Amino acid sequence: PAAAAARLDLDGNPIAPLTICMIGAGGFIGSHLCEKLMAETRHVVLAVDVYCDKIRHLVDPAPPHLAGRISFHRLNIKNDSRLEGLIKMADLTINLAAICTPADYNTRPLDTIYSNFIDALPVVKYCSENSKRLIHFSTCEVYGKTIGSFLPKDHPLRKEPEFYVLKEDESPCIFGPIVKQRWSYACAKQLIERLIFAEGAENGLEFTIVRPFNWIGPRMDFIPGVDGPSEGVPRVLACFSNNLLRREPLKLVDGGQSQRTFVYIKDAIEAVVLMIENPARANGHIFNVGNPDNEVTVRELAQMMTEVYANVSGEAPLDEPMIDVSSSQFYGEGYDDSDKRIPDMTIINKQLGWNPKTPLKDLLETTLTYQHKTYKEAVKRQMSQASST
Ligand code: NAD
Ligand code: UDP
Repeated sequence: PAAAAARLDLDGNPIAPLTICMIGAGGFIGSHLCEKLMAETRHVVLAVDVYCDKIRHLVDPAPPHLAGRISFHRLNIKNDSRLEGLIKMADLTINLAAICTPADYNTRPLDTIYSNFIDALPVVKYCSENSKRLIHFSTCEVYGKTIGSFLPKDHPLRKEPEFYVLKEDESPCIFGPIVKQRWSYACAKQLIERLIFAEGAENGLEFTIVRPFNWIGPRMDFIPGVDGPSEGVPRVLACFSNNLLRREPLKLVDGGQSQRTFVYIKDAIEAVVLMIENPARANGHIFNVGNPDNEVTVRELAQMMTEVYANVSGEAPLDEPMIDVSSSQFYGEGYDDSDKRIPDMTIINKQLGWNPKTPLKDLLETTLTYQHKTYKEAVKRQMSQASST
């Protein structure tokens, strides 16, 4: 379309269509990124994943208007020689592949470390050897705990931004002890960031590192027993959605006192597109991508989701909408938590002019409307089958 042809970068130059090798394209973030690139740009996507359920509408088969624009390559990057060829065919590689659900970090620490570090190594190597640009997905969890978390609970310095705001180029990475296997993920992500940074410094790799701060929205993770294992534990948005769909209390881990900032997936995807299309502004940078204005405790999130879900579903909330559980009951031994996550937005603002837009209430309305519409009947069916067997 003419509108796509006229796309300009932030410096006013026309954007040439790119071929993008997107690894992990079938996941939550990948599915939204594929949709956005197909709808608004002329870039070509080589979508790599072991699953394609979340992008089936784009690839199985590709609708006629997307012919030649997107192809699905079902492969496991752990052990598939086709990976190098795909990276060589592309101008840019985006690596989203990871095990990234906290319930796995302490219960499957080996898989977590292999997935987030070892399996990413060939991707970095092929990009570096073939002089291809890399956008690698890391995590806000590389910051670990805030400095302020080590002060006494009511210490006034805890209120000072220096003690909690997370800055890409200044904040330290603070993890718990090795027995707290929660940190296996953060530590693996930190090491792959350091390796990519070193490839940039020593071998000239053109890279961008993204640190997402709790991106949420439709298609995130799975609903246990419906489109994922019954015993599986997804991230908090899907856990709470599952509880609401089943009319059971939301489980607050260790009192629900941890704080998070949630950003709407569609806002965050705009930041990624800016990175893709403005290499001169994005290369060599690590970017926080989050919404510092959307901070809540997990308990407050549970309250908001309960209210919003009652509105969108028309079902009255339970008399006791939440219950407390200990982290060892919920996640098992070795769990630990990030206390607070406020992203500093200076660098992404300066380089890409990006700002998040959607307030938490609005994004929860959109997302829970989607969850209700997509899952309510399936959950009912699954619950009645389970009770009759
Ligand atoms: P996701 O689990 O939905 O997507 C990851 C995708 O990678 C999945 O589709 C999975 O099948 C695929 N994958 C994993 N291992 C693979 C392999 N060996 N070969 C091929 N495909 C493989 O998760 P997401 O939320 O879309 O996250 C994407 C990236 O962003 C991850 O690196 C994650 O660590 C990072 N991240 C996301 C968030 C967030 O808020 N969603 C926060 C922090 C970091
Ligand atoms: N959490 C919770 N109940 C749940 C799921 C998660 O209280 O059913 C808490 C979890 O302990 C953490 C926060 O919610 O403090 C966010 O968890 P998530 O899995 O989304 O990932 P994280 O932000 O820790 O990477």
